[in-house]
Amino acid sequence: MQEQNEMKLSFDARSVNEGFARVAVAAFITGLNPTLDEVADVKTAVSEAVTNAIIHGYDSEEEQVELSCRIRGTEVEITVCDHGKGIADVDKAREPFFTTRPELERSGMGFAFMEAFMDEVQVESRLGAGTRVWMRKKIGAQEG
Ligand code: ATP
Ligand code: MG
Repeated sequence: MQEQNEMKLSFDARSVNEGFARVAVAAFITGLNPTLDEVADVKTAVSEAVTNAIIHGYDSEEEQVELSCRIRGTEVEITVCDHGKGIADVDKAREPFFTTRPELERSGMGFAFMEAFMDEVQVESRLGAGTRVWMRKKIGAQEG
């Protein structure tokens, strides 16, 4: 079993990079022998967090989104960071159906999906400074 492994990526805040980010994480965690469902869960959570950084965090596509992924034993920890606008009220933002961008046809379910598909989600944010989303999931949980 892989004990510890870490990778970091920094990429432009362009929506095309959301697909890149989730595939990069999926490839990185293959050493944990995840099930297809586990891979799908992690990819969804990554894509929600990265999409939020791109859509809500930044106005400019030239800003950078930082993604890091760490494998510790049978757990994967993923951090998605932006240095953008920040969130005024994190508890409110995490509520299902809460969105500040209804005009973009956002449904306000991004954080709810991250929570549903990962074992733990922590959000730190400061207005005008940026947002950090940290998520953890045990891979292979079904096998005990
Ligand atoms: P959906 O994800 O369903 O398309 P959404 O992005 O609005 O809609 P969430 O992902 O749950 O819903 O996020 C809720 C709200 O939190 C957003 O509308 C936005 O106001 C705020 N938010 C989330 N991530 C960030 C971020 N990285 N920077 C600034 N604001 C954010
Ligand atoms: Mg979202």
